[in-house]
Amino acid sequence: MSRAAEETRLPASVLSQYEAVIGLEVHAQLKTQTKIFCACPTRFGDPPNQNTCPVCLGLPGTLPVLNRRALELALRAALALQCTVQERARFARKNYFYPDLPKGYQISMYELPLATGGWLEIEHDGTAKRIGITRLHLEEDAGKSLHEGFPDSDRYTYIDFNRCGVPLIEIVSEPDLRSPAEAYAYLVALKQVLEYTEVSDCNMEEGSLRCDANVSVRRRGVTQFGTKTEVKNLNSFRYLQRALEYEIERQITVLESGGRIEQETRLWNLAAARTEPMRSKEFAHDYRYFPEPDLLPVRVPAALRAEILATLPELPAARRARFQRDYGLSAYDARVLTDTRARADYFEAAVRAGATPKAASNWIQTELLRRLNDAGHDIQDSPVAPEALAELIALVESGTITAASGKKVFARMFETGKRAAEIVAAEGLSQISDMAEIERICRDVIAQHPENVAKYRAGNEGVFKFFVGQVMRATRGQANPQQVNEILRRLLRPD
Ligand code: ADP
Ligand code: ZN
Ligand code: MG
Repeated sequence: MSRAAEETRLPASVLSQYEAVIGLEVHAQLKTQTKIFCACPTRFGDPPNQNTCPVCLGLPGTLPVLNRRALELALRAALALQCTVQERARFARKNYFYPDLPKGYQISMYELPLATGGWLEIEHDGTAKRIGITRLHLEEDAGKSLHEGFPDSDRYTYIDFNRCGVPLIEIVSEPDLRSPAEAYAYLVALKQVLEYTEVSDCNMEEGSLRCDANVSVRRRGVTQFGTKTEVKNLNSFRYLQRALEYEIERQITVLESGGRIEQETRLWNLAAARTEPMRSKEFAHDYRYFPEPDLLPVRVPAALRAEILATLPELPAARRARFQRDYGLSAYDARVLTDTRARADYFEAAVRAGATPKAASNWIQTELLRRLNDAGHDIQDSPVAPEALAELIALVESGTITAASGKKVFARMFETGKRAAEIVAAEGLSQISDMAEIERICRDVIAQHPENVAKYRAGNEGVFKFFVGQVMRATRGQANPQQVNEILRRLLRPD
């Protein structure tokens, strides 16, 4: 722990007298090929300033044209988050001066947002809770200041305008969250919805999902909200939680020492593990918002709304519930298997191909996910197709191969992409179910270990496992374990 954090450590008895109030503002980059008001590509990682044109550079005399796909994706998100889509929305200019904003204003939405009044259910400590969504609107991203990485970075800041005009949605939550853990759960759930609906790829490292947190504290029992601060620069789930924990404790410390919370914007300083003042809070009037004169108001036809609603995929929460209901999975298994849409699709494809749900769930969670993770593959690029996994499960369940061989076969399938039956045949892994053969091996093992035979017959039951182990080893795991048990019991019985 850093010194600063130690200095502010308060006893739990004081902390527990307060409650946190948190609302999140999340920006998600929409999955479009081109920018929101021009035809420049949105590709990440291109050389600086390559993807720019007079429109997104804000040159005089240019006019923006709304990207229809961006609007459709924003509507998908709005409907998936149970929002009311407004019949008429309007773009507005948010004016501020910053080097990464060539026009001197950001095109956003203000008094007429695209959608309002939605909610998202989170689960925390085993209970479900609805978090209100105040509004969802479309806006453009700004450019990026590069403060390091150039030989003269000590004297100059460079600017990359590639991100200027990249389409974003901003999703503002109600102040319904009551702890850093709830805020974390909300961001996880939101990310999942945006991924399921293919609205955003939500890549936090590439900045396609960004989060600002508003937080205040109040004494338990008080109904009024306290003064909030806004914490910026929270570009990972862990930082969100840690920054909130820090900021809550800081605010309580200020109040406990008789001070007042300043309404301000603070920055999460990762290296120092603390929030630091960035600027005093800006107010809406500071931005001189006014309606964007170069764009028509956005009217969402009822037919478009209906079409998007009809094409929404099953959402994560519904899919989790259905997995428990239809496949008899535990809440935990359902949660793991629906973590991503691709994972849930994989599981269901295996079940459709004949795998029993419980077995498919186990194989995916143990063997498949571990190997995918080690190999750095996504499940959609799995070398073992869901149908191939179903075939392997069938071989194990029918007793053609043992469970132990099954794992070996799976490893080979993963390495080679071959089907289970082919590997079983080539490597001679079919289970030995020939009683005479197993009995011969059992007799050999018994003959080689007279001292353990004596122990077993003297009542040492534990030694039995030793014999089973020896037989399985001699058969390279291919003997039917149940038959091995029966034969050994019979042969070891005192005459
Ligand atoms: P601002 O006027 O600063 O933009 P808003 O009322 O628009 O504030 O809210 C911005 C965000 O702050 C929302 O996510 C909202 O839920 C949250 N918020 C508002 N008041 C509080 C508060 N007292 N404590 C914590 N969060 C708050
Ligand atoms: Zn452009
Ligand atoms: Mg506001």
